[in-house]
Amino acid sequence: MGWAKAPGSLLDAVAGLGRKTADIRRIVITHAHPDHVQGAAELRRHTGARILIHDADRAWLEAGRVPAEGRSRAVGRLIDRLPKLHWTPVTADGTVTDGDLIDGSDGLRVIHTPGHSPGHIVLLHEPSRTVLLGDAAFNRGQLAIGPPALASDPDLRPGSLARIPDNLNAVGFAHGTPLTGSGVDTFQEFLRRAS
Ligand SMILES: [Zn+2]
Ligand SMILES: [Zn+2]
Repeated sequence: MGWAKAPGSLLDAVAGLGRKTADIRRIVITHAHPDHVQGAAELRRHTGARILIHDADRAWLEAGRVPAEGRSRAVGRLIDRLPKLHWTPVTADGTVTDGDLIDGSDGLRVIHTPGHSPGHIVLLHEPSRTVLLGDAAFNRGQLAIGPPALASDPDLRPGSLARIPDNLNAVGFAHGTPLTGSGVDTFQEFLRRAS
């Protein structure tokens, strides 16, 4: 979802695909961290789309900040005191749960991957075997699972990565370059080592 300025870029991208703003019917949030939710309310205003999130992150979305228990270490809790990491509380229109298929057979399968946050989800487009990872892993220079201090329960992350299927064709990251081709093989090897 992104930061406060993200809706403009998202709507431009949708227009670039030849689609209309009204074609956006759902805003699925992978987890309630500031860089993933700050633009959600504005995008909903523009589109009329429903905001969906896993129930375990819903209270954070509606509180407008990550609570103390949302970070495993003090240094993580410190950053959540910064006003720029708060957001205007957002009321979700609904929740998603593990195994849900959003928007039918050509839609996105929800995979609950707690650890980075309690309600973190990964989204799998089964027909194209494309996975959208949110912050379950990062690809900024190298594949990584992220700093434990910023995760709510870092010990849950290996088990969550093990829930991501193999036979993928493409991998999208919230932070980092998407992977296709031999990059996907590298990613699957990373999953085997990290999970
Ligand atoms: Zn995050
Ligand atoms: Zn993020």
